[in-house]
Amino acid sequence: MNKKIKVGVLSFQGSVKEHIKILKEFNNVETVEVKTIKKLNEIDGIILPGGESTTISKLLKTFGIFEPLKKRIENGMPVWGTCAGLILLAKKIQGETSHLAVMDISVKRNAYGTQLNSFVIKSKIKEISENEIPLVFIRAPWIENAKSNVKILSKINNHITAARQKNMLATSFHPELTNNNEFHKYFINMIKETICTK
Ligand code: GLN
Repeated sequence: MNKKIKVGVLSFQGSVKEHIKILKEFNNVETVEVKTIKKLNEIDGIILPGGESTTISKLLKTFGIFEPLKKRIENGMPVWGTCAGLILLAKKIQGETSHLAVMDISVKRNAYGTQLNSFVIKSKIKEISENEIPLVFIRAPWIENAKSNVKILSKINNHITAARQKNMLATSFHPELTNNNEFHKYFINMIKETICTK
């Protein structure tokens, strides 16, 4: 396949530049900053970056792309939510109303405590890489529960920190804040598989 894959990054807030920088390491990828319906319609897959989930959700509504984004995900467009992005995808958020509500997971926001409880560890995630990769947690959520149709990719201290359900990938940590691109490679492959089976 010679055509470039168009990977969108939702660009209201958060670690947008960091995702784009890593995506640019891949030759077959064109990156698109997404804030409008026009850009949303151009892309083959989208990353929802970290930031503040409630703010990003409000901005999605203000810019009129909340429902169109939800529809595209429900229709199979690959999506990867990192941290706040994971919260946006969840059907349940403890003590709060959900946002896009597309993924069969229940999450706990700020599960590890405040900004001061941010941390980095190394872990091996079989689905992603044969090597240990660094995982950066910043006021991170964890996944309390996942339905049986959700594949659990990573657990740290018995809490689920990465999962996949069909076209949806969710990580409570930030691969874009490391110099390891294995997660981005995995997501790009998810997009390629979707394009090939269309
Ligand atoms: N604590 C943020 C939230 O609840 C997520 C933090 C992050 O994305 N690094 O939305």
